[in-house]
Amino acid sequence: MPAKLLDGKSLARDIRRELADEVAEFVKSHKIVPTLAAVLVGTDPASEVYVRNKRRDCKEVGIQSELYHLPESTTEGELLARIDELNQDEQVHGILVQLPVPRQIDTERVLQAINPLKDVDAFHPENVGLLVQGRPRYLPCTPHGVQQVLQRKDIPIAGQHAVIIGRSDIVGKPLSIMLAQRGLDATVTLCHSRTHDLPAVARLADILIVAIGQPNFVTADMVKPGATVIDVGINRTDDGLVGDVDFEAVREVAGHITPVPGGVGPLTRVMLLVNTLTAARLLINHESYESHE
Ligand code: NAD
Repeated sequence: MPAKLLDGKSLARDIRRELADEVAEFVKSHKIVPTLAAVLVGTDPASEVYVRNKRRDCKEVGIQSELYHLPESTTEGELLARIDELNQDEQVHGILVQLPVPRQIDTERVLQAINPLKDVDAFHPENVGLLVQGRPRYLPCTPHGVQQVLQRKDIPIAGQHAVIIGRSDIVGKPLSIMLAQRGLDATVTLCHSRTHDLPAVARLADILIVAIGQPNFVTADMVKPGATVIDVGINRTDDGLVGDVDFEAVREVAGHITPVPGGVGPLTRVMLLVNTLTAARLLINHESYESHE
């Protein structure tokens, strides 16, 4: 029997609906509209689409968004100055700098300049540290999307063996920490390009999560029958968008599987909205961002 499809698109729609109610309630109680500032530097077409989609998502749930579109020639100093202004601006709750930024700008320096209270991507070292210690301020969007799909589709996590392929700072590494955390309680193996006999390790997985950016990398022989397969990969090929999993073959073996597109991607998007509402709540609790410094 082919695997059950984990439909991220409809799940994201459900979460957006819940969130719209929460945002409306927040606005009513506090007379503050949660606001996201998106900073886009340059004219990368994919980045422009991502930012446009993120702003459309905001509108759908009642979050206000502002776009700061800076020219390709922007210097690091100019970008840092803009971030500083947004850090000080109490009307702005969340700040997102769309990556990648042009070559003349140091990404790390930019991400560290964002006030951690407004860091809705959860990339700032302070927020990564809090996550590692099990008291997250924000959960990073893609790992949170994966967690949501597992929990909302009642996939058992506690005591299960989760094998993650890919150790990036934005997906694999934080996800490995989250799944192993008390409360989720998975046994986690984090694999990467130096892992010996990766197919054998992957076959041990009750939950196999793949985030490497290589089309059709995971084949049916790498999957334990009945396992849950979460495909985070997004690869543009001549056949359109594909994930890191050979979907047609693996769905014959797996118990559950996410499609690409329509799997983790829509959930990643919605988690940014969740974090923006959290950011607005933080303002209420901190009264002034300056008191944080
Ligand atoms: P990355 O490109 O920063 O790093 C790739 C990781 O994969 C590295 O840790 C590397 O060790 C590992 N890797 C590469 N080749 C490997 C191999 N042959 N065997 C084992 N491990 C290998 O990763 P990223 O930024 O996490 O992106 C990974 C993929 O996920 C990309 O396709 C990206 O587009 C996609 N992505 C999707 C979403 C989403 O919302 N669905 C979000 C972020 C990233």
